[in-house]
Amino acid sequence: MTNTGDTKGCTMCGTCCIKGGATLHSEDLPLIREGVFDLTDLVTLRKGEMAHDPVQGILVPLEEEIIKLRGRDRSWTCTFYEPESRACTIYDNRPAECRVLDCNDTAPLAEMYDVDRINRADLLPEGHPLLELAAEHEEKCPPRELTRLGSAAKADDVDAYRALIEMVTYDREIRRLATERGNLPEESLDFFLGRSMEALLATVGIRVRSGAQGLKLVFRGK
Ligand code: SF4
Ligand code: SF4
Repeated sequence: MTNTGDTKGCTMCGTCCIKGGATLHSEDLPLIREGVFDLTDLVTLRKGEMAHDPVQGILVPLEEEIIKLRGRDRSWTCTFYEPESRACTIYDNRPAECRVLDCNDTAPLAEMYDVDRINRADLLPEGHPLLELAAEHEEKCPPRELTRLGSAAKADDVDAYRALIEMVTYDREIRRLATERGNLPEESLDFFLGRSMEALLATVGIRVRSGAQGLKLVFRGK
């Protein structure tokens, strides 16, 4: 991450911050309590989603839910990265991964990368109503099903197509209710519910279009 400073050989080029914000670990919890960042600065990547693994440098399906610093300007560039100055705006309080990352030696990051990573339950008190909502959302919109359903729908499987439309419809509705009736800021939904189904479908080459006949899926390469 840019301005890591603590790591040898870092030229502060910012490339790692542009590739994506840090995944958070339990040692980062004080940063949230102290207000360095809040829930609107975070994004939940749910179990089964494809995510960039900075140690291997490839996309891998997540075996557990993780929380990351969200991107800015519709990209994965860390929300705290300032492109003009190529600087981290929370440098003195940057998360643990940012302090150890050195692209010339990823061993320290590899050592801590999948240890003590936090999830939504670590940030919300036990019994919080949004945990229940998140669990229901998880059941109705499981990311692990997207690739299978997407391939089947692309091959004209009507049931798979309908299942995807139902997921998108439910996901849209729950987000609308959460903001309109639950008064949640829209920017917090990527934390509470994870990325929208439309965003996840886009990662497997499927776009959602709204028309007079309702929702329609458009498949890349078809
Ligand atoms: S760790 Fe590497 S990629 Fe990240 S800012 Fe430093 S030199 Fe650039
Ligand atoms: S918190 Fe700072 S160092 Fe870490 S990814 Fe974001 S901009 Fe880079």
